[in-house]
Amino acid sequence: MAAEKLKGEGNTMFTKGCWAEAAAKYGEYITLLFRDEESKEAQSKLVIGYSNRAETWLKLKKYVQAHDDCERALEYDPTHLKSWGRKARALEGLFLHLDAARTYRKLLQGFTLSASEKSWMKEALMISETKDRQSRWGIIEQDMDEKWEKADPGPELLASAPNLEEYVGPIRIGRTQKMGRGLFVTRNVGEGDLLLVSNIWTSNRFTMESETMPLDNALYTLQQSVEEIVNEAKENLQDLTHLQRLIQLDTLGGPYPDDLLLRDAPPMRYFKPVNSLERGGWRVTDEDRKHPALTNTFDRPFITKVILEKQLYHHGPKLLEISELYVLPSLMNHSCVPNVSTITLNNGKRSRIFRATRSIRAGEELFRAYHNILCPVDERRILHGKQNCECQRCTLELKLLREVSLLNYVAGECGDLAIENENENMWNCSTDVKQNVRTRSMTLLTAINDLFVHVSNLANLDDVKQDWIRASLTRFGRILLDPAIRMLPEVTFEQIQERDKLLVHVILAALTVDRASEVALSMCSGIATEEAPNIFNPVTDSMEEHLEAQVLLDCARRIVELSYGSGLKSQTIFNIVKSYAGRLKDLPF
Ligand SMILES: [Zn+2]
Repeated sequence: MAAEKLKGEGNTMFTKGCWAEAAAKYGEYITLLFRDEESKEAQSKLVIGYSNRAETWLKLKKYVQAHDDCERALEYDPTHLKSWGRKARALEGLFLHLDAARTYRKLLQGFTLSASEKSWMKEALMISETKDRQSRWGIIEQDMDEKWEKADPGPELLASAPNLEEYVGPIRIGRTQKMGRGLFVTRNVGEGDLLLVSNIWTSNRFTMESETMPLDNALYTLQQSVEEIVNEAKENLQDLTHLQRLIQLDTLGGPYPDDLLLRDAPPMRYFKPVNSLERGGWRVTDEDRKHPALTNTFDRPFITKVILEKQLYHHGPKLLEISELYVLPSLMNHSCVPNVSTITLNNGKRSRIFRATRSIRAGEELFRAYHNILCPVDERRILHGKQNCECQRCTLELKLLREVSLLNYVAGECGDLAIENENENMWNCSTDVKQNVRTRSMTLLTAINDLFVHVSNLANLDDVKQDWIRASLTRFGRILLDPAIRMLPEVTFEQIQERDKLLVHVILAALTVDRASEVALSMCSGIATEEAPNIFNPVTDSMEEHLEAQVLLDCARRIVELSYGSGLKSQTIFNIVKSYAGRLKDLPF
């Protein structure tokens, strides 16, 4: 019989390890049997067809397809053990650890199993349960603490983080007045509340020295990189559900009607993680296909277009950069006074966690910072690209152009310092130069504070708005924390105290702008470690001697909680704070 022959060929291909060919043969087998779907005999064969094909999808790491085939097999025969086992493995592949654990538990409790089946399922259950427990940042402390004892801070440390389940908190997509679509909260949320956990769709970074590279080479490099990112994007689509697949391309790529308002805001249902949808809810229906925002195809040219249009941008004269693409987070707009913090876990896949950094009322829009916001408004405009930022802070600074120019003039007087400091290693400079840099930065910070007292339009601003402007000159504070400047031999204790008072202003201003600022965290950590090397011992008894350091440490603790989540053990918080002290020079500026 033709069908049996196809199954036999599928099995042969499978044994040879030709997974794609095997999947194709099983596909033909299924199609053939489908003609006779009503018959009991065909149905029991379809179970085998779908289940075998699911196994080939698992080998190909196409977990969505594997899961779908298991579901179909189980619709015909809800007692088919192999399909259940394969479904559990597909769920693991999709990082749905809780669902995988539930499935293994069901198998262990409700099925008669052989000794070897029992053994691997018990093991798999334990792994799924552990991964589920770890699946939110903050619950992996044990792991972190151990790793952090020896690891350097930064990417290496985050690499120990587990893969995360997608999570969508109290969020909806809505229209904004000027920026097309945006994300809004659906209920009141508090500081530090988890909003979103999102896994990356694709990423790639490359730099191109256009000044030194001949144009042909540059274009070739660019072409290669686009090729790479398109391949990765296509590959990663396999990990996402059908609905997310549809929606993310719509989200990222259009087709855009000229008038943004004509563009439909897709319902949140499309973005929900698969495990929160009702059974079968992740399949694309005809209705979905008719939805005005879901009309894209996913061929190569289309993905290429998405990537080129959305993520390729000029960044200064010398580099072109393609960065990371996420689904729902790509709808969150920018503000220079954000209310959302972002932490990226470099866990082999890259996941991003978004938390509220202040109380946000139901219906308010969520904003994150796309780029450095601790710099003057004209620099922010360059970083922001074509569309100007219209946040309250930019609007204020543009209204106060005269005063801001005054500040910029003063900053300009010391500006060479910043350039010198960014481009050169201060360690190599003579002590005289370092001393000069130090003095000028101190003078500048004092002058800024004076301007806020004496220039009437600035003095009339409330404290928050003063901080918005002060935060634009954060870099001069950071110069003073450069290790080379900090360790000048002639600096007296009194001078350090004077410097710290100025720096506390700078840090508090940065925190007014962004309550989870990494730059502020690194500055807090820098001063606190320098002033009180023992302060990182959580049971220290000499806090009074280091009052200022203690204040900064409290700030640092708050920033850590807003970014990394509450409920961290104090040792973990201290480890994070300490790790930032060494990163003063590394943070984007
Ligand atoms: Zn702005």
